[in-house]
Amino acid sequence: MEIKKCSRCGRELPLESFTKLKTSKDGLDYWCKECKRECRKQNYQSNRECELEQMKRYRQEHKEERAQKWKQYYNTLRGFAICSRNGEITADRKHGRIQEDSLPINYPTLEEWMELLLLPDFYDGKQYHFTEMGVDRIDNNKPHIWGNIIPASTAHNKERGRMSFEEYLGRFV
Ligand SMILES: [Zn+2]
Repeated sequence: MEIKKCSRCGRELPLESFTKLKTSKDGLDYWCKECKRECRKQNYQSNRECELEQMKRYRQEHKEERAQKWKQYYNTLRGFAICSRNGEITADRKHGRIQEDSLPINYPTLEEWMELLLLPDFYDGKQYHFTEMGVDRIDNNKPHIWGNIIPASTAHNKERGRMSFEEYLGRFV
């Protein structure tokens, strides 16, 4: 019988004691069903703990592909933002530097959302602790979907307020 160790309670349990988790390498959650149930029953704090655990494991398991993916997203988007600010977007499209169809359009998953918080702040390029980070929208009238979200410190997010993305980004050039 195949077994797996729960990373919370440490017990070695049969695979059916774990729910499915798309984002993990073996397709199973890191915590056993019992631990998950307990976590759900408890307060916000322990749910947070559960999310952070998933985040930690996910990062370990997907280190390289995530580095590639995020670099691409960040660079594409940053290039996109800077070009549109300078009014050079047409030229860049012509030269193939921006592939619009390469910008994903859907909502990020929870794991992806947390991954965003690990990137440098989009505005000043500095690395903050993820607890100081949030997800800002380029266009505040559009939802939190790919192509419209950037990692930004909560301080910057707050400071920007209702200011347009272009105007606020202009402060950091
Ligand atoms: Zn457990």
